Amino acid sequence: MKNVLTLIETTDTSELGNTTAGLLGAASRIGNPVAVVAVAPGHGSALVGQLGALGATHVILAECEGTGSLLVAPELEALSAAARQVDPVAVIAANSVAGRDVAARFAVRAGAGLLADVVAVDTDGDAIVATHSVLGGDYTVKATITSGPAVITVRQGAIKDIAPAATPTSATVIVTPGSTAATILSTTLETTGSNRPELRGATRVVAGGRGLGSAENFILVDELADKLGAAVGASRAAVDAGYVEQGAQVGQTGVSVSPDLYIALGISGAIQHRAGMQTAKTIVAINSDASAPIFDVADFGVVGDVLTVVPQLISALGAQSDS
Ligand SMILES: Cc1cc2nc3c(=O)[nH]c(=O)nc-3n(C[C@H](O)[C@H](O)[C@H](O)COP(=O)(O)OP(=O)(O)OC[C@H]3O[C@@H](n4cnc5c(N)ncnc54)[C@H](O)[C@@H]3O)c2cc1C
Repeated sequence: MKNVLTLIETTDTSELGNTTAGLLGAASRIGNPVAVVAVAPGHGSALVGQLGALGATHVILAECEGTGSLLVAPELEALSAAARQVDPVAVIAANSVAGRDVAARFAVRAGAGLLADVVAVDTDGDAIVATHSVLGGDYTVKATITSGPAVITVRQGAIKDIAPAATPTSATVIVTPGSTAATILSTTLETTGSNRPELRGATRVVAGGRGLGSAENFILVDELADKLGAAVGASRAAVDAGYVEQGAQVGQTGVSVSPDLYIALGISGAIQHRAGMQTAKTIVAINSDASAPIFDVADFGVVGDVLTVVPQLISALGAQSDS
């Protein structure tokens, strides 16, 4: 079977990133999932079994001085070294800020084609076919690379396939970052004061728009999100109005999400907003205007005032969890 090299992301505490299962699941649709992960020298052996449980049949631990303190250079060298070892038909990375960066640099280095922000992957004979959701999600485009390995970045949360668990073999390689690698001098953790999941990659998102009317009313979005264990998102209009911080913006110039459930509260559904959420599995919209475009993409819609409907929803969910 053909090897599909999967670049695994790790957290600040060197644990597997939350994109891991989806990336290995995507790889298993094409071929044999081989995981590569950049680690500090002497670290990472505990990850081998965890990666096997998520479907990796072979794990390459790329030991690199500066992992965690150098910007993407260790991951790029890890990918390059692993590719030389396993001759992959495809390379898969997350469509995160770092994943996109590494994938693009690797594609240039390898002279390979890049398919970015993919929402599904499959094969058609020998061809690897990637699906993109474009133009605000209104069109689905299938693309393939005709020569060399296909370098693919996968939109977080878009691919739900789970690869069968495996007992992986493993290898360690030692890589050296290039002399021009950028160094991270300091990191500041922005705390949101909540245990909400991160927006990118969240399985549930509750998003609010200008229809909330004020920052005070936007608390309803937070409350509903907390009832559902969801991340908080927003339209650009809500961000521009100062209801919520910019990191919550979903859409063309914000974050793209592909959750199982997306609840849009007081959001009209402009094409630039839909571009970031239309691939959600189930979309629920609450809007006072029955002709709002958000209802064109919603699976369930409530025509009503968010300030009336959302408190009722929160209290109904509360009653359900109490019973
Ligand atoms: C280049 C470019 C990039 C952009 N990028 C983005 C992006 O990334 N993300 C993004 O979101 N937008 C983006 N925009 C802006 C986008 O075009 C819209 O202006 C924006 O999405 C509108 O946000 P909204 O739906 O919250 O506000 P509005 O369009 O004002 O809609 C508010 C909605 O709330 C409803 N409403 C009002 N009161 C209530 C109530 N009490 N109860 C229930 N419903 C109510 C109204 O019926 C209306 O449908 C971009 C625009 C441009 C030009």
